Formats: sequence, C-alpha cells, structure tokens
Amino acid sequence: MIPRGSWLAGALEELAPALALAWPGPCFACGADLPLAAEAGACPACWAALPRRTGRGCPLCDLPGPAIASPLDCPDCRAARTAEPDGARALARIVAALEYRDGAVAFHRRFKFGGDAALATPLAREMAAAWRARGDGGDLVVPVPPDPLRWTVRRRAPRRLARAVARALGLPVAPRALRKRRPTPAQTAAAGAARRRALAGAFAARPALVGGRSVLLVDDVATTGATLREAARALAEAGAERVAGLVLARRP
Ligand SMILES: [Zn+2]
Ligand SMILES: [Zn+2]
Repeated sequence: MIPRGSWLAGALEELAPALALAWPGPCFACGADLPLAAEAGACPACWAALPRRTGRGCPLCDLPGPAIASPLDCPDCRAARTAEPDGARALARIVAALEYRDGAVAFHRRFKFGGDAALATPLAREMAAAWRARGDGGDLVVPVPPDPLRWTVRRRAPRRLARAVARALGLPVAPRALRKRRPTPAQTAAAGAARRRALAGAFAARPALVGGRSVLLVDDVATTGATLREAARALAEAGAERVAGLVLARRP
C-alpha cells in the first residue's frame, strides 16, 4: 500500500521502534493481545484470574488448603512451634494476597526476576486489600531486607512492595529498620533444619525505628514462613510490640 522507497515508508521505518514501545505487546502471562487499558503488561482476564487467598486454610499462617479450624491442626504452624519457638511467638500471623500457583507464579517472576517496577503498585494493591479484609492493625511497614552484597534485580522486590503497600494502606515505611547480617541460602536451595541454622541470627533490627511499634513485615513469597519468623524475632528483640507478616503469595 505504501510504495517502497517513498518518504512515507522511510518515515514509518524510522518511527517503528518508538511505535513498538508505545503500543503494548502481548500479555506477559497468556500471550493474548493487550487492550490499550491493560495494567502493567497483563490482560484484564489474567488479573481477574489470579488465585486470591480467601482465608480458607490456616487462620494463623495462611497455608492454603482445606479449612483448618485451629492452628493446632496446621502442619506448618505445628512444625514452627517445635523447631522455631521464639520466631513462632514473635510472629503473630501471616496474611497472603495470593496462592503461589498458576498466574501468581508468572506475575511474581515478571516482577521479581524481570525487574518490572510497574507491577509493584497493582500487586501491592492486592496485598493491601487482603490486609484490609483479613489483617489487623499495624502502624509501620518494614520490608524483609535483601542479602548483603547481592546486587541482582531481585533484591529490590520486597522493598518495592513494602513502599507501595505502605502507600496503599496510608502507613509509614521504614525500609532500613531491618538489615541482614550475612547472606542466607535461597528458599529453594535449603530446607528444614539446614535452612533454620542458616537463618538463625541473620537479621538485626534498629530499636530506634521499631521500638513500641506494631510492625507489618512485608515479603514477596512465603514458603514455610521461616524467614518471616526469624525477622520477627529480631524485630521483637529490638522492642517491636507486635509483628505480623504480609506477603504477595504463599506457597501451598
Ligand atoms: Zn493475559
Ligand atoms: Zn498454620
């Protein structure tokens, strides 16, 4: 339709990269064409289909699954009380926005490993909604800190979520209230006793920032909750009055 070699064809060629940037590509989760109003690179159907937690499962650690009447019947809570009694005492509860399966995995990967900062605000909105519906209290948001000397894009995920969650809930955020003293193996690399040993004493909290506060501890994914419990232990040691965990997704 446009003659090759014409000024118009040349202009379109020049403009192509800019047009590709302005026009959204396919949905990163399902590959469907995106409507112009799509949010953060995902189509409305994929946003709607996210496996949101409804509160079924464990009321204390939000372990997905069949309804559990009492945390005494939850395998994760029972194991935590036996193996990490201090951490289990320090962490009042965990609330998760999503179950870590299906679309939640694609959204989390895109956000954490792809470094897609645009996802932080809508994902934090999901977390804030879960906290409003099923959480209680909190007057300061604190992210689980990254490993020292790890400079990959994934280290920013909890801080980005914490800032956006704080904005959504109208709470102050203290990104450096907790720090990690040394690196610990990734959740997937170590399990059980080995992971507990690696985590023990890994966090330090600033009493001046958390003393007397009710802390909302934010992380991206909880597997057993061991990281949250150890971080909560450090916060309690520094004088935090109460600590509850709020995560984007909980692994079943
Ligand atoms: Zn989609
Ligand atoms: Zn539980």
